[in-house]
Amino acid sequence: MGNYTITVLPGDGIGPEVTDQAINVLNAVAGRFGHTFTYHKRLVGVAAIEAEGDAISDESLEVCLHSDAILFGAVGGLPNYDGRYKVKPEQALFKLRKGLQFFANLRPVKPLNSLLSASPIKPEVLRGTDLLVVRELTGGLYYGHLEPPVPGKPSEIRKTGHGTEAIDTLLYTEAEIERILRVAFEAARDRKKKVTSVDKANVLSSSVLWRQVADRVAADYPDITFEHLLVDACAMHLIRKPSSFDVIVTENLFGDILTDEASMLAGSMGMLPSASLGTRKTANGRLGLYEPIHGSAPDIAGQGKANPIAAILSAAMLLQYSLGLKDEAAAIETAVEQVIQAGYRTEDLREAETKIINTQEMGQKIASAL
Ligand code: ATP
Ligand code: MG
Repeated sequence: MGNYTITVLPGDGIGPEVTDQAINVLNAVAGRFGHTFTYHKRLVGVAAIEAEGDAISDESLEVCLHSDAILFGAVGGLPNYDGRYKVKPEQALFKLRKGLQFFANLRPVKPLNSLLSASPIKPEVLRGTDLLVVRELTGGLYYGHLEPPVPGKPSEIRKTGHGTEAIDTLLYTEAEIERILRVAFEAARDRKKKVTSVDKANVLSSSVLWRQVADRVAADYPDITFEHLLVDACAMHLIRKPSSFDVIVTENLFGDILTDEASMLAGSMGMLPSASLGTRKTANGRLGLYEPIHGSAPDIAGQGKANPIAAILSAAMLLQYSLGLKDEAAAIETAVEQVIQAGYRTEDLREAETKIINTQEMGQKIASAL
């Protein structure tokens, strides 16, 4: 029985709707296992820009630093937003990831048996799929390295004598590549003992370096089967034979794209959780930020259609990685499976003979199953 503090950053669009349900489920865990969770809610995204003038305030970052874990919803993507404010809501994510050094983003993809028919991929192809994408989160194209460096400005559009041009730069250091590769190999040791390193080494210099470093790190893990794969081929194999993968490790943008693709193996964007981890320790594990892989989904915000399971499974990852509560995390996963098995679905997973319920009802069902 422990006492834990969790910073909650609900954000924009469906962010608050799905994090509310993750909190309901965490409260059910607290009730069943006798823990006390204290939540510190802070503004992030558009709400923070309007109230505090920044996508996330320095004070909120401090609150994050002094908690056991961070539960995050989504920011940005709102229609009619551009031009209203100078600050972009997405800057909150860059500030959190860079500021707290969350360089490793873990995205497990394990389709539930009772959802195999909800995916556009054939059930016989999906069966046995259980993979983990380890996405590098604090480098690459998302963080420009202009000469001279322009802080907080990941890209630049400029007028030249030949018309307007835009540049983004893709830079990785050996140390950044090595630390993310090690996360992948360590994760594989607790899983099916295979690592696939994904790059575009036939075109990109950063990928050539990535391969060299990956080969060197792989030599330290002789117990792990290791392979390289080009990102375009990986996109194809994810659909053709997803069960052949165990751990996929890749750079920032490739990881973003491949996991939106992989979400459809699980049936919906609303099913995939994530954990962002760095080197900071807490009393019971590592400080981490937990969020669904989806964004703010403005098209369905405020309608009760959002699937809260990605947020709820993110809360399970929070219990496991930051609080060290493995049984509690497993209990959430079992509760999700039971509710899906019983035929309850949010709109995104609509199929014949399923019972469609809203965001809040899905959260309540899972909390009750606990
Ligand atoms: P980001 O740039 O933050 O990754 P995105 O452009 O990938 O965002 P999302 O906001 O993730 O876009 O959503 C893409 C679409 O997927 C949404 O428009 C919505 O229809 C669907 N979607 C996303 N999340 C959910 C969810 N939790 N439940 C149901 N549908 C969802
Ligand atoms: Mg996306």
